[in-house]
Amino acid sequence: MSETPARGADLTQARNLVTSIPGPRSQELMARKRAAVSNAIGTTMPVFAEAAFGGVIRDVDGNTLIDLGSGIAVTGVGNANPRVVAAVSAQLEAFTHTCFMITPYDGYVEVAEKLNQLTPGDFDKRSALFNSGSEAVENAVKIARSYTGKTAVVAFDHAYHGRTNLTLALTAKNQPYKSGFGPFASDIYRAPLSYPFRDGNRTGAEAAKIAISQIEKQVGAENLAAIIIEPIQGEGGFIVPAEGFLPALAAWATENGVVFIADEVQTGFARTGAMFASELFGIEPDLIVTAKGIAGGLPLSAVTGRAEIMDAPQTGGLGGTYGGNPLACAAALASIDAFEQDGLIEAAQRIEQQITSAFLAAQTTDARIGDVRGRGAMIAIEFVNPETGEPDAALTGAIAKAAHNQGVIVLTCGTYGNVIRFLPPLTISEELLAEGLSIVLDALANA
Ligand SMILES: *Cc1c(COP(=O)(O)O)cnc(C)c1O
Repeated sequence: MSETPARGADLTQARNLVTSIPGPRSQELMARKRAAVSNAIGTTMPVFAEAAFGGVIRDVDGNTLIDLGSGIAVTGVGNANPRVVAAVSAQLEAFTHTCFMITPYDGYVEVAEKLNQLTPGDFDKRSALFNSGSEAVENAVKIARSYTGKTAVVAFDHAYHGRTNLTLALTAKNQPYKSGFGPFASDIYRAPLSYPFRDGNRTGAEAAKIAISQIEKQVGAENLAAIIIEPIQGEGGFIVPAEGFLPALAAWATENGVVFIADEVQTGFARTGAMFASELFGIEPDLIVTAKGIAGGLPLSAVTGRAEIMDAPQTGGLGGTYGGNPLACAAALASIDAFEQDGLIEAAQRIEQQITSAFLAAQTTDARIGDVRGRGAMIAIEFVNPETGEPDAALTGAIAKAAHNQGVIVLTCGTYGNVIRFLPPLTISEELLAEGLSIVLDALANA
């Protein structure tokens, strides 16, 4: 590694490979990882990062890679965003921790005020801050149970809500998330989703009717505390439900005294070309869970929602040692400034155009591209066997691997492992994104 500390801001926003991937230093560090880190923690890329800025990551061998994953939709404002660096550095000098439950500080309150103001719904709101998406999802369920006095929770097919015990019960996919880790939290039920590419383009109203009928038959509204759903599913494959599906579910929940929770951990904060994906579907969730993009890379998450629901649990019933850490709050406030003042919602919309037009053009001559979907800077390509329409996970893995070898970080997802997902930083330049996309398209052509 270089002798002076690496500075992200010094990086040129261009791909540059000086060794094969992985280079010798990364290989050395991978060997140390294998000897020191639990084998259960996997890595997408075999390279170790040394510095990152905007849309590039430089590895320890001096290769500069194009980042089309944002550390799983986290660095929406760009890695080491100058606003975030300045705000966190200033907070670091002031104080690092007091515990908000002991000696509160204004950054936490200001983040709560911003969340209450920015999330959809023109009603009185409150927020509570936590550390991870999973922790916030768990707390949303606690809050809904406390408010309703009921216990059952419904999640959906292909859902991903985290890796803690309760959130694993909500998460749908067995491998690698759940296998061997049970028993899981009880009173969790699964309902069918609207998945236009695989349900014959059923309308949203029809899909909602099927889901609601199953919920009524198998759970009963009188037992149901909450419905939790990702407005656009993340790990499940960027599945965009048919128009009308989410509003019908939300209306049924309201009519039946069920708390409607939107898990916007992946879709939140300008990612989908709106501040929150719920806006795209015209819904106003009772509770919204946020994390990932909220704080430019610092660990922070939140539950925001109707004041009467958020205030239902007893004082002291929610919290945690680190929840709403002052550095993370400073980062969140700086990130929110960036989303609002640096045109990042519009940037996400431009990114949608650029990615979808590239792959829709390719789809006209390549039937392996089954579906191009998503919103904003959250776009997925689902690969299939052209003859059978069956998911093609092997092709998807080969494309990702070839792109990685060429210095482009892309992620896969989907219940069937046959989806490449693009989650670039919203600050990525058009040229850098174009280069990244052309490498992925070449990888597809050669696969
Ligand atoms: C990542 C994610 C989570 C879990 O967040 P962690 O911070 O990893 O615990 C929950 N819900 C959704 C939709 C996610 O994408």
